Amino acid sequence: MTTSSYQAISIELRHCAKTFPDGTRVLHDLDLEIYPGETLVLLGPSGCGKTTTLRLIAGLETPDTGGQVLFNGQDVTALDIAKRNVGMVFQSYALFPNMTVAENVGYGLRIQKLPADQQKQRVGEMLEMMRLTKLANRHIDQLSGGQRQRVALARAIATRPRVLLLDEPLTALDAQLRDSLRVEINLLLRQLGITAVYVTHDQSEAMALGDRIVVMAEGRISQIGTPRQIYHQPKNDFVADFIGTMNRVQGNISLRRFTCPAGSLAVQADDKEQAELMFRPEDVRVSTELHDDGLQGNVSASFYLGDRTRLLVDIGQERHIVVESAARCELQPGQRVVMNLGNQAALVA
Ligand code: ATP
Repeated sequence: MTTSSYQAISIELRHCAKTFPDGTRVLHDLDLEIYPGETLVLLGPSGCGKTTTLRLIAGLETPDTGGQVLFNGQDVTALDIAKRNVGMVFQSYALFPNMTVAENVGYGLRIQKLPADQQKQRVGEMLEMMRLTKLANRHIDQLSGGQRQRVALARAIATRPRVLLLDEPLTALDAQLRDSLRVEINLLLRQLGITAVYVTHDQSEAMALGDRIVVMAEGRISQIGTPRQIYHQPKNDFVADFIGTMNRVQGNISLRRFTCPAGSLAVQADDKEQAELMFRPEDVRVSTELHDDGLQGNVSASFYLGDRTRLLVDIGQERHIVVESAARCELQPGQRVVMNLGNQAALVA
């Protein structure tokens, strides 16, 4: 299978709002451009409109009057799903239980009426690519969850769709399987170079898979950016708080004592005592060797995570921050620590 087997297209949503017949407006005038060959992740809390957006792209929903969906600049708003040539993978596999793995994978090719020898060859390629060759003659109910999802992926890409749409494909799997299949999907999407839209509410999945992430809230786009931009330059409070953990320290905490001594942190606010400092737990260096050059606090709680330890630290005046320390460093509740921010780590609002 070569990249050239898939023709990477651009997708554009213009003024796509969606109001359901009961009057619920679940999308508000969405404008979105998806570049050829990129994996765009739609991320956001339950009910924010991710699936509805995906269904608009698929042709399973139509936008309210005035909204347009374009594939490679061509208006496909009136085309139904069968004519859009999209591959879809859902959380609930949606495989045919009465067919074998090979028959499932070849289903779309039979519909396309591809000559039998080409069907056989394509199915063989797909099974090999998804490491399913040995399972070709098994029935779906004889497969594990991970294997089923690999069949669903193979079936979705077998017809060489113009775009691959994935709706929470890993949600039903256990954590370990999710991690390994996430790596496989990542490699697959890079290898195919296909334009893909991936819906998830799991931020680590979004970070790992997305070339860009669209963070959605209540039917609107809150921010679009690369995973790094979304994590390090959140545009608003919603994005800052939805992705990872964000600490905020305001007011009469001495920021200068907290920021690194070399002063490499850009504190832009004029009144440094009044500025709001925002920083991630991993941006903070924690030490038990108490000195004046930092912010001191008492450990309130400690959560051992295996590769690191998360600490909740009481910094006084009923304020707590979340910081991280090396896993091997055992810190007990009540212990006094001193904290410094790493270089370029913080944002000042
Ligand atoms: P989740 O992560 O829970 O799947 P989501 O972000 O994908 O959520 P959508 O499935 O797009 O959200 O749903 C957005 C909103 O639209 C929800 O409040 C949902 O209840 C509502 N909704 C979805 N389909 C319909 C429908 N056919 N009629 C009325 N409301 C609907």
